[in-house]
Amino acid sequence: MFQHIEVKEPLDKLMDDWDLLSERVIPKFATFHEAGHSVLGLRRREILPANIIDPAKGDITKFFELGPDGIEAGSLESMKVRITTAGTPHRLPHNFGYWHINDKDELYLPIPGRNDELGYFVVVQGRPTDEETDAFAWYCEECGTMLFDFVIKTGMSGMTGFWQGEREAVTQYNADVKLRTCDECGHVNPLGYCWNAYGDSPEEAAARKLW
Ligand SMILES: [Zn+2]
Repeated sequence: MFQHIEVKEPLDKLMDDWDLLSERVIPKFATFHEAGHSVLGLRRREILPANIIDPAKGDITKFFELGPDGIEAGSLESMKVRITTAGTPHRLPHNFGYWHINDKDELYLPIPGRNDELGYFVVVQGRPTDEETDAFAWYCEECGTMLFDFVIKTGMSGMTGFWQGEREAVTQYNADVKLRTCDECGHVNPLGYCWNAYGDSPEEAAARKLW
């Protein structure tokens, strides 16, 4: 995987003390980086004993998964590995404003910083191949009916297709109130938003605070 990571120094200089979390390497993973069989994300976050704080998004401690018995709530915890298995719809409030459904497992590991420094939030996903997909989906907040599902063959397109698909999915969902209105119970869901908070419209920024 090292050949996919570009740093200023020649690689043979780095190999002896290779450290993915070093200041010169970590910006390469600030979104997601395809490396070998994995897609890696490494971010600086405030990792507290009971909370994980993203400087741009606020508290991103909680997560939700949609299992056979309905929605299960949990929390990400410092130094605890959390794995979302392939095919499980999942969502992290204030972090990405849709349910993410993909064909590979995802692993999260929050690591606290030393002293008062920011910690690290490590995400490792399997890299999709061939016909495998990522989907951006929304379910009725009240009754759980699926309202909209936007699927990208990321096994073909890679992360470029992921980010384009994410933006397109959120834009379509937000532009049409019919897509956000439940046929079963009439509830209207709030707007969606993308993972990257810096691209939020004012309405998306408000939705990010909300859910
Ligand atoms: Zn409903």
